[in-house]
Amino acid sequence: MKAVVLERRGAEGVSWRDFPDPAAGPGESVLRVAASSLNRVDLYMRDNGAGITHILPQVMGVEAAGEIVETEPGSGLRPGMKAVLFSEAFCGECRYCLAGDQPLCEHVRIMGEHRHGGFAEYIAMPSRCFLPLPDDADMVAAGALMTGHLTAWRMLFGKKTLQPGESVLIVGIGVAVACLQLAKMVGARVFVTSSSDAKIARAIAMGASGGVNYHRDRVSKAILELSNGGVDMVIDSVGEASWGESLRSLRRGGRLVTCGATTGSNPPADLQRLFIRQLEIYGSTGGSVGEFRQLLDVFNRGLVKPVIDSTFEMTDIHRAFERLASGAQFGKVSLVP
Ligand SMILES: [Zn+2]
Repeated sequence: MKAVVLERRGAEGVSWRDFPDPAAGPGESVLRVAASSLNRVDLYMRDNGAGITHILPQVMGVEAAGEIVETEPGSGLRPGMKAVLFSEAFCGECRYCLAGDQPLCEHVRIMGEHRHGGFAEYIAMPSRCFLPLPDDADMVAAGALMTGHLTAWRMLFGKKTLQPGESVLIVGIGVAVACLQLAKMVGARVFVTSSSDAKIARAIAMGASGGVNYHRDRVSKAILELSNGGVDMVIDSVGEASWGESLRSLRRGGRLVTCGATTGSNPPADLQRLFIRQLEIYGSTGGSVGEFRQLLDVFNRGLVKPVIDSTFEMTDIHRAFERLASGAQFGKVSLVP
């Protein structure tokens, strides 16, 4: 088969080339990939990869949707079925898996990070990671659900569910569009920040109640005014550069969910603000199989659909990376074999 293979760090270490077909091990099935999408973690692995244990060469791609071509009796799957992959090969046996909390699995191996990924014509994964889709599902959209929308789902609804009538500030581009869609779906009021007036205008066109250009205005001051005293929840994927303003944008008793630290991991904790205003901070990453099923139910009913910024063929992987690295995209950068 052909696949996007990472052989060494840096753009020149990535190529679309021949690679051995995946062999399904015990308990595994094989998907013919119809679509995948590019994520910041791919860029990180290409250029740095520190902290990710994998053996190169490695097929990249942490998402995939397509058609099942090989499965085993008893899996509940059959060849010809459309499916999207839950991209974390979880053990199914540790205390977290048994509690239904697969993103915390002690033995998890993520496709495209620790095992071969979805930027390929075929991929093998444990059968329990295959979630069936309707025959008429939009595969490009399905192939862009796992990283953005599932992460957003868990942040908004996983621990302390965002309620209708609450307000949320979404900081940073990481999962912003997905969060905006899901928060609007449940009737919450949404504010965004960006350095781009054009992106703020697009967010408002999608239903955001307001936005702050952080290059021009002080975020917390603007948000306290817009939300009439502070928001209930902040979603922050930026980290050090935004942390202080994110905490100051919360109402008393508000909560901050962190899902990324693209500008650094060690902001001042501001403990006094934390206890006096009785704020809550918690981390979130990925989502569980149960949450993915809920998301797919909403997706299959047409209530939410990823915004696709652009679609590239996998042979064009370098242009796709350039699009992502530029930061100019709004929504997902999709890849098709
Ligand atoms: Zn486990």
